[in-house]
Amino acid sequence: MNLSLKIIIALVLGAITGILLNLFAPGLFTPLNAYIFVPIGKIFINLITMLVVPIVFISIALGTAGLGDPKKLGRIGLKTISYFLVTTSIAIVIGLSLAFIFQPGNVGTYNTEGLEYSSNEAPPISDTLLNIIPKNPFQAFAEGNMLQIIVLAVLFGFALTILGTKVARVKEVLEQGNDIMMFLVNLVMKLAPYGTFALIATAIGTQGFDAMKAMSLYMIVVILALIIHTIFTYGSSVLLIAKRNPIAFFKGFAPAMGVAFSTSSSNATLPVSMSVAQKNLNVPKSISSFVQPLGATINMDGTAIMQGVATIFIAQVYNVDLSVTSLLIIVLTAVLASIGTAGVPGVGLIMLAMVLTSVNLPVEGIALIIGIDRLLDMARTAVNITGDAACAVIVAETEERAANKAELAVK
Ligand code: ASP
Repeated sequence: MNLSLKIIIALVLGAITGILLNLFAPGLFTPLNAYIFVPIGKIFINLITMLVVPIVFISIALGTAGLGDPKKLGRIGLKTISYFLVTTSIAIVIGLSLAFIFQPGNVGTYNTEGLEYSSNEAPPISDTLLNIIPKNPFQAFAEGNMLQIIVLAVLFGFALTILGTKVARVKEVLEQGNDIMMFLVNLVMKLAPYGTFALIATAIGTQGFDAMKAMSLYMIVVILALIIHTIFTYGSSVLLIAKRNPIAFFKGFAPAMGVAFSTSSSNATLPVSMSVAQKNLNVPKSISSFVQPLGATINMDGTAIMQGVATIFIAQVYNVDLSVTSLLIIVLTAVLASIGTAGVPGVGLIMLAMVLTSVNLPVEGIALIIGIDRLLDMARTAVNITGDAACAVIVAETEERAANKAELAVK
């Protein structure tokens, strides 16, 4: 049986176990969760997270060096960032539109009295961008500051290219380090079905049906927007720009989506999503190792969708009419907020505070959606990393076509 199938079965069994325990044996759920599900889930997440920092550094340094000339790096960088920005904007617009159509905040009653949520956790986006250059590389590694590690790795890879044979041995060490990391990813992935089962059982068992029932329309709108964005935006760009079969794309990438769904973390899923893109989607290593780590850090379409729907939902609950200008501000700040969102569980909700404040909506509104956010986080993380993979496939195909054309021209 292949890994994707095992992961999907584990997801379904985990969800069923969580629901059944929550409904019929809550007393049994508590000890099972504390002594079995939580520890297994934690071990699995720690095992993959352990590999993230070295993989990001090694693969981006090698990816940059592998691209060779700086012009190519610039071109790929531009393509990647443009795709990220355009798709994230589309994502927010889909989220906003569906929230206007379904009006989740106007249907049903929500009690806003006494809600509390403190927003001082959201770091201003300017800080994230200004601090992109690490003052101390070791601190960046120790804190796992992805943007800083990426900058360092790109510079390192650039030096590898320019210095060439002089530093060939360092490059070789990195290449061997990369082999070791990929070996470990494959090893850890053998545990993925167990980890997935445990994580889903915890998430669903803890949330229960009541939380879901009260917020069902909001959940449905977010999930619908995620599905529409995945099928149309990613599917059509893979079909039209990369000229690949979108179904084969989704099928090939499914194992990574399963892991993202269960871990709710783009960062933790990165080793898996890169290895899956390289193996199943034939994305060259140099491109996958440049595009995907960058995407896992700054490209979060699923998160942007949640933030769009949540903002409108909260405006509806508090009876605030939003002007066209406010809507534009929401699109802009949600793009920035999703860039600033770290690829770890739950941060998208913290960054939502920034979007709400930008249009003077009450940040306490977050308290309404916090209860079910854990479940939506799973779905949006799967979308977040699918966007990175779609971009990697598109960059790979367009680069290959350009290379073929250049070759023909030479002949
Ligand atoms: N959990 C998401 C991710 O890692 C981020 C978020 O929206 O909270 O991609």
